[in-house]
Amino acid sequence: MRRAFISDIHANLAALEAVLEDIGKEAVDEIICLGDIVGYGAEPNECAEIVGKRCSMVLLGNHDAAAVKLLDTHLFNNYARAAIDWTSRTLRKANRTYLLGLPLTAATGPFTLVHATPYEPGMWYYITSLEEAAFNFHHFDTEVCLVGHTHIPTIVVLDANKEVYAHSAGHLNLRDSPGARFLINVGSVGQPRDRIVKSCYGILDDATGEFFFRRVAYDIPLTQARMRKAKLPEFLVTRLSEGR
Ligand code: ZN
Repeated sequence: MRRAFISDIHANLAALEAVLEDIGKEAVDEIICLGDIVGYGAEPNECAEIVGKRCSMVLLGNHDAAAVKLLDTHLFNNYARAAIDWTSRTLRKANRTYLLGLPLTAATGPFTLVHATPYEPGMWYYITSLEEAAFNFHHFDTEVCLVGHTHIPTIVVLDANKEVYAHSAGHLNLRDSPGARFLINVGSVGQPRDRIVKSCYGILDDATGEFFFRRVAYDIPLTQARMRKAKLPEFLVTRLSEGR
């Protein structure tokens, strides 16, 4: 199966539409969403409805959980909290119910799927170092674990000699490293933070073993205009054109 993995859409409709159009050219069998459909952006209802229709599997993110009061926002920064309060007020009932029903983890074929970390997924820890990645390899059994949450696309390999290292290219073939396992962060559709302003997502073909990231340009000024109209924090608006 050839699958597209998207994550961290954050209510950015223009970015989601651009990514779905790009996925349309990639001849995938299914689309999987690793969570954070809402929070930060101005189109939570539209994004929840599209993801619900287009994705065959969808996980809960911490912003989704906070928007439906499954998670307290005391650990969120002021900007994120303001956006969550706005999102909670704006979400329609059907979409709130939809988010409430999303799972923390899932498995499909050779993959483990989780928004934050396979270790205690409901604690919303971040994987920001090789040490943290190495620790998390002990907490899933499959060949590949796909995550989101940090908004930074990364591929970490645990090779057959138990060495853990970051794979620096934006693509690899899993079959080139027999006995290896992989922890892949698919980046963010709606708020990339690796200083590249384009949306990011990943494609994985388990028949060929091929994985690669795709970067997709979207109409950033349009998203920013919609956020300003909704009076979302200016910091969240400007960071989109800086990719941070
Ligand atoms: Zn996120």
